[in-house]
Amino acid sequence: MLSFWEKQTFTAYDYAVVGSGIVGLSTAISIKEKQPDASVVVFESGLLPTGASTKNAGFACFGSLTELLEDIKILGKEKALELVMERYLGLVKLRERLGDQNLDYHNHGGYELIREQELYCIEEIETINDLLKDVFDKKPFEENKSLISEFGFNEQVVKSMIYSRYEGQIDTGKMMKSLINVAQRMEIRILSGASVSKIEDNGSDVDIVVADQTYGHVNFKAGSVAICTNAFTKKFINDLDLNPGRGIVLVTKPIENLKFKGVFHCEKGYYYFRNYGNRVIFGGGRNLDYKAETTTSFSLNEQIKTELLRQLDEIILPDTPYEVDYFWAGIMAFGQNKQPILKQHSDHIYLGVRLGGMGVAIGSRMGEKLAEMMI
Ligand SMILES: Cc1cc2nc3c(=O)[nH]c(=O)nc-3n(C[C@H](O)[C@H](O)[C@H](O)COP(=O)(O)OP(=O)(O)OC[C@H]3O[C@@H](n4cnc5c(N)ncnc54)[C@H](O)[C@@H]3O)c2cc1C
Repeated sequence: MLSFWEKQTFTAYDYAVVGSGIVGLSTAISIKEKQPDASVVVFESGLLPTGASTKNAGFACFGSLTELLEDIKILGKEKALELVMERYLGLVKLRERLGDQNLDYHNHGGYELIREQELYCIEEIETINDLLKDVFDKKPFEENKSLISEFGFNEQVVKSMIYSRYEGQIDTGKMMKSLINVAQRMEIRILSGASVSKIEDNGSDVDIVVADQTYGHVNFKAGSVAICTNAFTKKFINDLDLNPGRGIVLVTKPIENLKFKGVFHCEKGYYYFRNYGNRVIFGGGRNLDYKAETTTSFSLNEQIKTELLRQLDEIILPDTPYEVDYFWAGIMAFGQNKQPILKQHSDHIYLGVRLGGMGVAIGSRMGEKLAEMMI
């Protein structure tokens, strides 16, 4: 049984956010920016945020050329352009809010490795540059084949390279630490190890039940709730076009004379790598085994690990000795298209989920829009 003091002081809030990933924390911060006197709580089931936001590769990107061409096919030009704009605005917001030093933000550029089967995209460069002319002041994409040998990639496989001038990289750990610091300075209460088991709109406010080791469960109340649980949302709302998608990543030990810096996209975004200092972070391969990777389990798929090592050996670092430090996994959320789900679910419950593979970029913008809906 909670004490009178605990009940009185800790269990009722103006706003509650479920999930402390980039979207949850950004939503809580945006609410406080708009209503400094409001009480805001964030429930996080993990000891640390435990989904995608602390597990990602730290690309500050808005989409490679082949990805944008795919988006246009599925969404049409207008909606694809809107997505790029939202990612761009999200990155601006993130950098303004936290500062480049706290993010360890660097712009070493973005690049796409083009194989034989993607050469079709070269002819589309100017069409896409033209489509994006209102977002960026210079043409974002250009072809530069000389980079293939300069960066030491396998020239038998990589037939061309596209340079994207507006893409940068961050330190994901520093981003999340800074977001938590900002939230705490604003007196947002973050409760870690607080797994929400039930959220119910009772017509005038929201009842929230949190699983607890000592009491079995603890009841909370909030005026409005934002569900920001991304891949884990079906626990609360089953009827959603949302599937989990595991992403597996490796990091090498420091490499002497690493030949490249920047963020790199391959195979329409299914593989991606970057430098982190003189290490390489490399991930992807979900498309090798979609069925097994549609999961919320953080375990590692041996087939994908083997393929990542093969590509590192044969394509990315063919002439450079390296050692893998270790692998990890994170869980994303996907739907039939790349648009996030941002909506009011009931009178007092709101949803900001399905961030896909570019949540670092769009996450702050999602939080801002969700807060606007809730206030
Ligand atoms: C391997 C990998 C690489 C990626 N690389 C990039 C990249 O380079 N650039 C980029 O822009 N994006 C990248 N992404 C995608 C990006 O990380 C995500 O889109 C983004 O982090 C999603 O943020 P979120 O806040 O919506 O979800 P999450 O970070 O998953 O947050 C959801 C939170 O909800 C919590 N939660 C779940 N259920 C409950 C519950 N019942 N009660 C309380 N809390 C709960 C979880 O523990 C979690 O902390 C990558 C993702 C992965 C996995």
